[in-house]
Amino acid sequence: MPDAFAELRHELAAANRILANEGIIDAFGHISVRNPNDPGRYFISRHRASELVEPSDILEMTLDSKPVVPTNVRLYSEMVIHGEIYKVRPDVNSVCHHHAPSVLPFCATGVELVPLFHLGGTLGAKVPFWDSRDEFGDTNLLVSTPEQGASHARALGPYYMLLLRRHGASLAGKSLRECVFRSIYTTRNAELQLRAMAIGAPGPLSPGEREKCGGHNLGPRGVERAWEYWVTRLQKAEAMWAAAGLPRLRDLGKLARPQTAGVGPGRPARHHGRARSKSGATGRRSLRSR
Ligand code: MN
Repeated sequence: MPDAFAELRHELAAANRILANEGIIDAFGHISVRNPNDPGRYFISRHRASELVEPSDILEMTLDSKPVVPTNVRLYSEMVIHGEIYKVRPDVNSVCHHHAPSVLPFCATGVELVPLFHLGGTLGAKVPFWDSRDEFGDTNLLVSTPEQGASHARALGPYYMLLLRRHGASLAGKSLRECVFRSIYTTRNAELQLRAMAIGAPGPLSPGEREKCGGHNLGPRGVERAWEYWVTRLQKAEAMWAAAGLPRLRDLGKLARPQTAGVGPGRPARHHGRARSKSGATGRRSLRSR
């Protein structure tokens, strides 16, 4: 039977590998996407490091984070992070959870993460904190029960990034690609803040700049341009994998071309022919310089 979600599984596998390739997720951490046809379900990989996720690893879950089709394969213990956010945030269609090294100092100290450059606007209006100890006392720090997941989702509130004390960060996005974009650029902002704090007192964006920068960067042009870049970087990394005899994700070329390429407003389609790259490795590209 053909899989109606084959493309979605492929794109989610690519998102997993991109987040690994960009240093956001290592052996631990995960990203999910809501089922576009059924808001009461979402897709996430089985228990596996993101860098290795294949489309066939992607399973469908209910919002209670139970597999739609019963399975014996091992699942992530923190899936409730995803399901409980989807329950209370109908605007959110993708969730990422990670422990990126540059975000962890903020989780360890409680220092507020603030936007310090235009792409830092992806932090959103505020980055709240959640401390599992407040409600649950001493735990193994994993967000693994429905009650913990619900508490974590309440702490996120209407925002897009949540810092978990002594643990990591969770991100929300209106789409999978937006969630990847936010995950990467909020981490870059954290790296910048650590460096800036080492040499002086950082001056964050004003609330107005924060809103304007976030809105601009998260538009389809910015998200698609970055997506093409990250897919291409992944292709280059995976070319080395292939040389080492490791399996790589097929058909990345299809994803390298942004969905919005060549359909800019007010430009007739005939101006947007497509060129094949010299090697053909990056698939079809818009001629338009972006
Ligand atoms: Mn975690």
